[in-house]
Amino acid sequence: MILTDADTRGWRTVRRYAVPAPMIHRATERRLAGDWRGACSAADVAVDLDLSRIKSRFGTTAAARVEQDLQHFAPDLLRWHLPRRPSTGHTALSPRRLSVLARYRDDLILVVGSPRTGYGRQQLRLFLAAEPLTSRPSQTHRDDSGHEPCTWHMAVDRDLPRHVWDARHAGELLSWYGLGPGPHDHLVGDLHDTERFVRAWAELGVDVPQRQVQINRHMALGFWYRLPEIVRAVRDAATTTPGQVVAGWRDQSYLSFTPAGGGRLAMDFYTYTPRDAYVPLERLGLPLDALLIHLGLIDPDHLHPLIHAALFPSATASPAGPPRPGRPSADPVRVRCGGAWHEVRWVGGRVHIPHSEQEQQRETMLVTFGGSRSGCFAAKTAMENGPAGLPRSPRNDTDFPDPWAATVSVTPAVPQAPPVRPARQARLPRRLTEQRRDLMRLALHGDTEGVVSLLDAGVSAHTRDHRGRTLLHFMAHLRDLTLLARLLAEGLDADGADVAGVTPLVAAAYGMGDLAVIRALIAAGARQDATVGSTGEPITAWLETARPDVFAAIADLQDSAAITARLHWRRQMAESARAHAAWLSRHP
Ligand SMILES: [Zn+2]
Repeated sequence: MILTDADTRGWRTVRRYAVPAPMIHRATERRLAGDWRGACSAADVAVDLDLSRIKSRFGTTAAARVEQDLQHFAPDLLRWHLPRRPSTGHTALSPRRLSVLARYRDDLILVVGSPRTGYGRQQLRLFLAAEPLTSRPSQTHRDDSGHEPCTWHMAVDRDLPRHVWDARHAGELLSWYGLGPGPHDHLVGDLHDTERFVRAWAELGVDVPQRQVQINRHMALGFWYRLPEIVRAVRDAATTTPGQVVAGWRDQSYLSFTPAGGGRLAMDFYTYTPRDAYVPLERLGLPLDALLIHLGLIDPDHLHPLIHAALFPSATASPAGPPRPGRPSADPVRVRCGGAWHEVRWVGGRVHIPHSEQEQQRETMLVTFGGSRSGCFAAKTAMENGPAGLPRSPRNDTDFPDPWAATVSVTPAVPQAPPVRPARQARLPRRLTEQRRDLMRLALHGDTEGVVSLLDAGVSAHTRDHRGRTLLHFMAHLRDLTLLARLLAEGLDADGADVAGVTPLVAAAYGMGDLAVIRALIAAGARQDATVGSTGEPITAWLETARPDVFAAIADLQDSAAITARLHWRRQMAESARAHAAWLSRHP
């Protein structure tokens, strides 16, 4: 495997936020108490399987085997290991993946599904499936079909090794790679420049044209592991398969090797998925955490305890786990404002600036007439009204399907509150940018304790992220009604939309939030006729088809606006279906 600098920086951030220490502690405590459902709940894994049904359909022995595995399932460890693409700057799980945990028979396979969207609630879903498992969701046959949330998967990770999810096997992490306890420093090669790259391969009898390296820089330059063993595996394969040998890492990159005379090989980058057999190099790697330790990017004390035990089998003390958010500095931030330095500080959960009410009103008026904010006003706006500009890319800056990306309403069926205008020119001082990023990453990964501790320390509850989302947009992730009540009491708007027009209720419902959160938002006055993205579909209409159980459970709260909007939507859909059928009949 090869890791670029962007990868390693990204993984450092992932290790800090993606599996919060309180989640590890709670899930471990439940697992050790024999409460595997409790462990799943603590690690936000929805359990969608019924042991008594397995028993009646597949027999007692099969059900017992499944149950025994579930007793040792460490959902927090699985979350630690599942694929992400942090080089894109995002810490979320890779969405829409189906991973096979255990295979009992071809029609009884234990799988876990990753979230439907990259930015929604980071909930995993544990269920049983049957072959054929395909990357085309409609063809994946489920044990009990008809459950919409399980049909969204676009990729299948076949048969994850046990050490990534089964606590009994977690200690096999190093042996899976054929390694013993560290140090592993001699296995890592720093091949960050073309010349060093070409020389390292040449010393092993493999010639790589410099030009190929320059063209494929992102595939070539970075940290490489175990180069001599890779070359040996390729040479072994070449003895049975004369000609080209393709080797590589699934979902990552492939290399092609051809004999070049005199016992040497010529290497090139192979940019397609190999059609035929290839030499898998997955096991010729190094556990990611061992590499991060080697690079000094993670403190061993911040590892997941099961990973720590696997990497340091002779250690006696248990690690603390991922670090908790630090107490943000209460010192004021100095901002250049109208030729002078002013101090911006937090007071009562809001950004306080040393300007009178009249001055602030005058500034607001200037902006209304097209002026731009500056100094203190800009800092306050950036923190509480969102980004220092529009989202970087109009498409999507996560590289993942994102329910809130590109959802600019064209013609909403029902009038909506105008979305927040991003403060285009507002520049946020660096310390405040970091505070904002910290708060929103904690929220994305469902670290409720972390969010509350930052709010207690004085960070503004009115903070908005780069897409104009407030903490209310993350209630599906945070799952805490006390926090929700606190945010509403602080004056956050239950209908405050982000730059794409998405309201907290839409985010919670569409982002697979719990029923309690959805009900609480409606009770707080969130409009039920708010719409989902560009289609203009009212959220209640979406719930009716996609999450019928939730729809039924909020029926008593429905208001007339929601009913009107839904009926209007259904009529529109029926009309366009009729028009489409008519068009088809005219154009057979
Ligand atoms: Zn000022």
